[in-house]
Amino acid sequence: MKMTPEMVRAQERMAPGVITAQGFLGNDPRNVAEIIAEDERYFALYEIQIDRLVAKMRELQDAGRAGLGEAITVAPYWEVRVNEARGVLPCPFSDGVYGKINTIVTDKQSGRELVFSDLTTHLIEAHHFFQGQGSPFRHEPEDYVLILHL
Ligand SMILES: [Zn+2]
Repeated sequence: MKMTPEMVRAQERMAPGVITAQGFLGNDPRNVAEIIAEDERYFALYEIQIDRLVAKMRELQDAGRAGLGEAITVAPYWEVRVNEARGVLPCPFSDGVYGKINTIVTDKQSGRELVFSDLTTHLIEAHHFFQGQGSPFRHEPEDYVLILHL
């Protein structure tokens, strides 16, 4: 996949210290187009719609909000905690701003945990961008699929 001019600009904004202190690319040597293409291949291979993942992320966040910052059980598999902080973060692709809301989902069967922000959810939904390897907010597609029981 070729880098579009939009991706080139977004990748510049993903550097540490531009939007967030740690940035979005971690220590991944790949460019944004390569990261997106490789993660899309995973979902194509397992015939899982990325939209289904996003719908599940939103469903768990909405359910978790009822806990008002405390962890609550969401049947049948999860414990969910939602933390909200003041302020917003812009998307590096410059198409919106997102609240600093973190959702922490624990799969009670495996004990494994996912943490995602509203911006993370947007990046996956709108851009199929899961962030670079080593980024604090990257989880592998397989982790989403297993922990969210897709
Ligand atoms: Zn965006």
